[in-house]
Amino acid sequence: ATEVRLAARPEGTPKPSDFDVVATDVPRPAPGQLLVRNLWVSVDPYMRGRMSEAKSYAEPYALGKVMHGGAVGEVVESTVDGYAPGDTVLHMKGWRTHAVLTPDQASKVDGSVAPLSTYLGVLGMTGLTAWIGLLDRASLRAGDTVFVSGAAGAVGSVVGQLAKLKGAGRVIGSAGSAEKVRWLTEDLGFDAAFNYKDGPVAGQLRDAAPDGIDVYFDNVGGEHLEAAIDSANLHARFAVCGMISGYNATEPNPAPRNLMQIVGKRLRIQGFLVGDHYDRHADFVADVAPLVASGSLRYSETVVEGIENAPKAFLDMLAGANTGKMLVRV
Ligand code: NDP
Repeated sequence: ATEVRLAARPEGTPKPSDFDVVATDVPRPAPGQLLVRNLWVSVDPYMRGRMSEAKSYAEPYALGKVMHGGAVGEVVESTVDGYAPGDTVLHMKGWRTHAVLTPDQASKVDGSVAPLSTYLGVLGMTGLTAWIGLLDRASLRAGDTVFVSGAAGAVGSVVGQLAKLKGAGRVIGSAGSAEKVRWLTEDLGFDAAFNYKDGPVAGQLRDAAPDGIDVYFDNVGGEHLEAAIDSANLHARFAVCGMISGYNATEPNPAPRNLMQIVGKRLRIQGFLVGDHYDRHADFVADVAPLVASGSLRYSETVVEGIENAPKAFLDMLAGANTGKMLVRV
């Protein structure tokens, strides 16, 4: 068996030596436990926060211990009623080839309903994040002009498409390459998109949304947030999902300089955490799974092969190498 552990707490951008890839014995399940062989492992931006010691909304990882996170695997041994070899489960034991789980740590997923990888992406945590943030936190309304940053990523690509499917008037995305911009407008149906590396975000957003924006779904923070405040219409709603532009910063990002506009424009700016909303998971799946099955909501996955390459997948994701969800095939 193999597992990937946190070797050092990164200063700034993490590097390969912050991780240890370690060969271990295959763990033995005790009575009441399952042994699972992982098939897919997720790498996600929030893991960057957990690598640091600073207290955040998720516990810091322990040095020398496995990088925990979302994974899907197949039961190979079970002493638990209701679980048999061949069953597939979603769990949070992270970057390892094998995991021992109690039943309360595993939820069954069905590979005949949707590909197993999607339970980590479009039908999993990142899809639920997009759905809750857009529909519930930002209260999307028919005719809204919606702007989403990080638009070609796992969360952002679902946000933009859902907005169109739920009646938004105009959907605008920003992303970090010309190819991603093309994917958004040509394949996913965004009305406009721009590469934030091409020039100041405020000007590019104003050009894409001359009549202003009613909803901003923030994945990036920093300059993007300031630009969105500038382009916001009266009573615009902001769902603040993440601020990835600051995750590797050694000094806090400067705040938007135009916060006073929040008052005059009566903006509603609301942060949220997907973890608070798993009571809506069944509603989310009932709404979104048919859209995925029919092809009206498209998804992309960038797949890195081999658990030993999980650190590379994670570092590449932070640097923007993924289109849609970044995943490791074990
Ligand atoms: P993505 O699939 O979007 O991958 C991260 C992307 O961020 C990269 O592909 C890169 O794309 C972009 N990026 C990296 N650095 C910067 C930068 N400096 N400026 C702008 N873009 C950058 O990840 P997720 O969809 O999983 O997560 C998206 C956001 O949602 C993150 O902020 C994450 O923390 C947050 N999140 C929040 C949750 C919650 O409960 N609140 C739950 C899940 C995610 P590019 O090429 O475009 O630069």
